[in-house]
Amino acid sequence: MSERNIMLECINCGKKYPSDTVIYRCSSCGGLLDIILDYDSIKESISWAKFKQRPLSVWRYYELLPVNPKLKVSLLEGGTPLYHAKRLGELIGLNNLYVKFEGANPTGSFKDRGMTVGVTKVVELGIKSVGCASTGNTSASLAAYAAKAGLACFVLLPAGKVAMGKLSQAMLHGAHVIALKGNFDQALSIVEQICNEEKIYLLNSLNPWRLEGQKTTAYEIVDQLGKVPDRVVLPVGNCGNISAIWKGFKELETIYLTDTLPKMTGIQAKGASPIVNMIKRNLKLIQFTDNPETIATAIRIGRPVNWPKAVKAIRESNGTAESVSDSEIITMQKMLAKLEGIGVEPASAASLAGVQKLLEEGVIERDETIVSITTGHMLKDPQEAIEIAEPVNEFESDIIKIKYFIESKLAEVVKAVR
Ligand SMILES: *Cc1c(COP(=O)(O)O)cnc(C)c1O
Ligand SMILES: [Zn+2]
Repeated sequence: MSERNIMLECINCGKKYPSDTVIYRCSSCGGLLDIILDYDSIKESISWAKFKQRPLSVWRYYELLPVNPKLKVSLLEGGTPLYHAKRLGELIGLNNLYVKFEGANPTGSFKDRGMTVGVTKVVELGIKSVGCASTGNTSASLAAYAAKAGLACFVLLPAGKVAMGKLSQAMLHGAHVIALKGNFDQALSIVEQICNEEKIYLLNSLNPWRLEGQKTTAYEIVDQLGKVPDRVVLPVGNCGNISAIWKGFKELETIYLTDTLPKMTGIQAKGASPIVNMIKRNLKLIQFTDNPETIATAIRIGRPVNWPKAVKAIRESNGTAESVSDSEIITMQKMLAKLEGIGVEPASAASLAGVQKLLEEGVIERDETIVSITTGHMLKDPQEAIEIAEPVNEFESDIIKIKYFIESKLAEVVKAVR
């Protein structure tokens, strides 16, 4: 693909690498890597009209993806719904609140956007094994795409801290699952070292090819909304997604498909909020959290590898970061489910809990057009959903008692309507 002038570049020292180099950090300075595309030539060949002739999906925008679309490993990812959350918006005081439901991806999270491109890159490179550390969704997604491509898959998970839905996916899709007595941050550090020493390709969000797939969320939002929103709000864990989506918006501007940029707004859980701390105190260097803890296991991360990219995205875009408590997350998860019919896992609800908090603080204005990204499906963590929802009502096979119960509930509805 060298005719497309695709390069890897260190965001820190600027060192460049050919696109077929198997590398996850800069060999000179250890900095994060980014993919450089030739936007001048891309610009010539694309338009919204051209995109719109193809199905809404990650691959609708293949000219902006740095891999060969003829080799693509796809489960039909992307093309997720953008809902206008009218009832929730009305309740919290926002007229233009939208929810991008990434739970509608093939394995139930946005990770599929990254894996379709990341695993296609693996096929291009001719590597036969892939690996990742994961709080759950990365492993579920990688296992599925590895299955589709016929690759061996190794996943390292923090033992006892992965939601059941996610674990069951990784297992059923045939990954070799290694449960580590430690947290995600430790798992990532181990798997990074193993991938550097063995012939296993690392597909955590440290991998810049994966982020290229995730940037399509930005393209889809503009495609669906018909404009760039004022603000994009999303949960932040290892910081890959916020970095990728910001790149997507900036690219659209670079190639003249849009002329504004949204404020990137990252939400973390109180017990795992190094980015929020850094933004609020305007620090130059991150202070990691050693023992991250939250019900939102997908963002239970204390040492986010992509922090330099994420902090840059937030600062460049005039965005912000906020933290929310587990109880605020749970309350929002229920509101979203009951007012909008959108079932999300706890980390995803953090995003909207953050919107509500920032509105109350006066940071978000009432008439802003806001897109909140809900990153994963509620079926990922059914145990948690059952624990927080109204309990099941159990009865003997006795129609009188059941009718009595139903009538008492109907009376509540009548009262509420009046
Ligand atoms: C991976 C994940 C996140 C965090 O995304 P990062 O790119 O690590 O910041 C948030 N929510 C869900 C559901 C996830 O699976
Ligand atoms: Zn470097």
